[in-house]
Amino acid sequence: MMNQSVESRRCPYCLEQAFPGLAAGRRRFFHCSSCRLVFRDGLDAPEAAAEERRYYEDEYYRELAWDQLEGYRDGIYREALDRIEGQEGRRGRLLDVGCGCGLFLREALKRGWDAKGIDPSRESIEYLHATIGDAGIQGTLEDFDPGTRYDAVTMINVLDHLAEPWKDATRAASLLRDGGVLYVRVPNGPFHMALCRLLASCGLNGSTGRVVVFHNYVLSAAWLTRVLSDRGFSRIEIRNAGLSGFSGYRRHTGRTKVLHALRRAVWCGAKSAERLSAGRLLWGPSLEVTARKAGKTG
Ligand SMILES: [Zn+2]
Repeated sequence: MMNQSVESRRCPYCLEQAFPGLAAGRRRFFHCSSCRLVFRDGLDAPEAAAEERRYYEDEYYRELAWDQLEGYRDGIYREALDRIEGQEGRRGRLLDVGCGCGLFLREALKRGWDAKGIDPSRESIEYLHATIGDAGIQGTLEDFDPGTRYDAVTMINVLDHLAEPWKDATRAASLLRDGGVLYVRVPNGPFHMALCRLLASCGLNGSTGRVVVFHNYVLSAAWLTRVLSDRGFSRIEIRNAGLSGFSGYRRHTGRTKVLHALRRAVWCGAKSAERLSAGRLLWGPSLEVTARKAGKTG
């Protein structure tokens, strides 16, 4: 019989019961016993959505734009476009959701895509306009109606930040033409949870923020597959995504160098496991997902 005193929450996706799981600093996460979604406690607080929106509109750029502008993500942008072009076979219309300062768009435009982006951050869009022109729009998918359809929609390190990512997956589907490609890059939830436990067991709790990534949701390949197939996507393929570069870590010394070396070692292990298991073992720090909107591919 279930202990009635165990604290629980309602899973925001499937509405089944969720129980306490991970704690990262002051943030607590609950784990759904049915769909396995891991979500941050407090997302359903009345003021949470407005606060998040204000943060991304007004503060995100000052706090975290450096993370985009240092250039150490250029490799993942090229990887994303290589993957999409491998599936699409042509460079048509592309929408980048959460485009930030537009560095991915810059690469897409350079390759000949008719690329646009949308992002809630006012200053990021101002930066984008000043550097690559009018390819960016300030806002979110919730209030976006372009009156057109795209050949590709990309969400790079975005989905786990959102208030209700499954609704944005539905919106992405409605923005794609039949047969269009959705590309998602997202932290690999089970990997980061395991790493968090490992670091804690080594007494390295204070370092978890530099290597472990938790936002509103901790997403897994299984949950992503379920959500995308529920929304009519087909040919859902999920792999370990390549690592971003390491320039962001140059300023650190000592223990961070050890973590840096650990990160490289884990990556080599993850790629080997993926190859040896023919793609079933996904133990890299990030997942790369491609899926097609059902319908004709023309
Ligand atoms: Zn659930």
